[in-house]
Amino acid sequence: MAHTITADSDQYDSERTGFQLSARHRPDVIFAAEDAADVRAAVSHASAHNLPVAVQATGHGLAVAGDGGVLVTTGRMNGVRVDPAARIAWIEAGTPWSRVIEAAAPHGLAPLSGAAPAVGALSYTLGGGIGLMAREHGYAADHVRAIEVVTADAELVLATPDKEPDLFWALLGGRGNFGVATGLEIALFPVTTLYGGALFFDGFDAVHAWREWVANVPEEMTSSVAVIPFPDAPFVPEPLRARRATHIRIAYAGPAEEGERLIEPLRAYGPRLMDKVEEIPYTRSDIIHNDPTDPVASQSSHSLLRELPPQAVEAARSLTGTIVEIRHLGGALSRPPVTPNAIGNRNASFLYGVVSRGSEVPPEHAQTEAALRPWSTGGKALNFLFAAHATEENVKKAFEPAAYERLRDLKTTYDPADLFRHTHHIPPR
Ligand SMILES: Cc1cc2nc3c(=O)[nH]c(=O)nc-3n(C[C@H](O)[C@H](O)[C@H](O)COP(=O)(O)OP(=O)(O)OC[C@H]3O[C@@H](n4cnc5c(N)ncnc54)[C@H](O)[C@@H]3O)c2cc1C
Repeated sequence: MAHTITADSDQYDSERTGFQLSARHRPDVIFAAEDAADVRAAVSHASAHNLPVAVQATGHGLAVAGDGGVLVTTGRMNGVRVDPAARIAWIEAGTPWSRVIEAAAPHGLAPLSGAAPAVGALSYTLGGGIGLMAREHGYAADHVRAIEVVTADAELVLATPDKEPDLFWALLGGRGNFGVATGLEIALFPVTTLYGGALFFDGFDAVHAWREWVANVPEEMTSSVAVIPFPDAPFVPEPLRARRATHIRIAYAGPAEEGERLIEPLRAYGPRLMDKVEEIPYTRSDIIHNDPTDPVASQSSHSLLRELPPQAVEAARSLTGTIVEIRHLGGALSRPPVTPNAIGNRNASFLYGVVSRGSEVPPEHAQTEAALRPWSTGGKALNFLFAAHATEENVKKAFEPAAYERLRDLKTTYDPADLFRHTHHIPPR
């Protein structure tokens, strides 16, 4: 019997609260799922009463805060099974990357995880997944072998490229629109260490040094840059908080000596506030981005860029109240996957994001998007569309036009009543 929680329960608030605090689901009933049978019970209840269904694993990627209906929480479904010989892992719906990384490491293997190990591996992967080794291996979604999902008719289906190829294609990109996924089989890679970490420089100008440097790096080098308030601590007096630091994040999966040689031009740029780049076990990959681990109310927006000229970098110079993050894409992210999926925008070379604290969206988000328009592909990355920016218009921009039309056709087939609408929404016809 599935464990259900309603608003009159003491557990209601803690169960619906995730990492993102700027908004929260307000469902009529929460199904705290422990297995696929519980998920089926939740969808069956929703279908019988024509109620919308939302899903939450960790709450890092809240798109639409559902008002009413059913919320399925999957945090208890956090198992991982590694098959070292086949170099694959089966991950349950609510498993964070940290558990997959820990389970794979003893076998000399690593997954295509991203900046923050606390992020849910399943949702990250179905949303694309731009990871620490993304330029070498492409999207995490490009390396999925099978997806187990409860569809709108409450059936448990195993979608693979051979069985249910349409559903498999649609889930890899269209994610929560097609059902509640209960598990995923992903490929693992023979990686035990990275030459990786962070370089910090005072002020803003080192962003230009990074911009010039990425023009000549191999695909094995995946990096990004952030401009952050520095020192970033609540006890620092207000005038000092206008100071900023440039945080360059490095992940190189080749030999450490080669990694060291490759980043030499960055080290030569000037004095570093901190230099934490060295050979690290993959299990310490969290130190590369050093993302917050405590729940936070934040707003994020982004543009995908074809190129990053100096003027595009300068668009961030005046954004003192925010964090700016630019990720280097390209490489394998630009190539089509062996098994097709719905992930779009493979023509982007950079992802340029702005993050602000709080529940309001400050004007800097729209101003930056407008300033970057000359170099924008016009696309969006689904995984980086949160809350106020996860509009239907932006979701559409995450896909190539023909793929979006196919997704709408498949949505009409698999979920004509639009039960799964409290997500990055793709409407049926
Ligand atoms: C600090 C931080 C760092 C990040 N770093 C990266 C990064 O490096 N690369 C990258 O690509 N992304 C990154 N992301 C984005 C992240 O991958 C997405 O937000 C992802 O959706 C989070 O998944 P979750 O399970 O943790 O979050 P949740 O909020 O629990 O889930 C997000 C959404 O996914 C859908 N969903 C969840 N579970 C299921 C399911 N079982 N079946 C169907 N749909 C489901 C739901 O619509 C849900 O609203 C980051 C986000 C944060 C906040």
